[in-house]
Amino acid sequence: EGKVEFRDVHFSYDANRQILKGVSFEVPAGKTIAIVGPSGAGKSTVSRLLFRFYDIQSGAILIDGQDIRDVTQESLRAAIGMVPQDTVLFNDTIAYNVRYGRTDATDEEVQKAAELAQIGGFIESLPGGYASMVGERGLKLSGGEKQRVAIARTILKAPPILMLDEATSALDTHTEQEIQAALDMVSRGRTTIVIAHRLSTVISADEIIVLKDGQIAERGTHADLLRQR
Ligand code: ADP
Ligand code: ADP
Repeated sequence: EGKVEFRDVHFSYDANRQILKGVSFEVPAGKTIAIVGPSGAGKSTVSRLLFRFYDIQSGAILIDGQDIRDVTQESLRAAIGMVPQDTVLFNDTIAYNVRYGRTDATDEEVQKAAELAQIGGFIESLPGGYASMVGERGLKLSGGEKQRVAIARTILKAPPILMLDEATSALDTHTEQEIQAALDMVSRGRTTIVIAHRLSTVISADEIIVLKDGQIAERGTHADLLRQR
């Protein structure tokens, strides 16, 4: 469960310019694909299209063989988990933020997911960052900590498909390694699409596609791509 296919996808936001010019790839259930390429190549567009935020002009996007046009927004959102580059949190406790999307989860499940994401120690605190919230339980979370809240939420939701948008901003090496470890754990056994900014972070992806100007310029494993250079 969780196979993703893009078949000759053409897309433009407006009539003036084609953004994706025939993109095809297939991620077998449980495998990981990484999409790399220069800024503006169309990487984030691929993730927006998988959520069907926009309709494509031609081609098809399928999940487990089913065209996403035939899938309800609810089941699409249930099937795909997203760990964005920059997580916006609700003005409520970390526990509330982790539970969001799985309100039926028990306190124990929330705590366990938070521990796996290494934010178990402060789930009753508020995320902070808003003037109104700087109270005694207020906490100012770093970018890395906010991303770990998103990871905990995804661990709890356990979707078959995972979309990861790697941080472009510089995190310190320790934080980056911790986040990388948490991401590796959450993606195990799930179909994973990683939008990567550096080839070095996706060495273990089953396939890497290099997107340039809306087209796949190169594809292969990390070793294949190094050999071609
Ligand atoms: P990447 O993630 O590879 O940096 P994007 O998918 O964000 O690239 O963007 C691809 C191209 O689409 C860019 O030229 C960008 O300016 C353009 N673009 C992105 N979003 C929109 C939008 N909502 N409307 C029009 N053009 C957009
Ligand atoms: P209908 O379902 O009424 O036959 P179409 O098949 O023409 O309509 O598609 C409706 C809209 O969905 C069109 O704007 C088309 O570009 C878009 N679309 C087509 N295939 C996909 C797809 N796989 N994912 C998202 N949008 C799609």
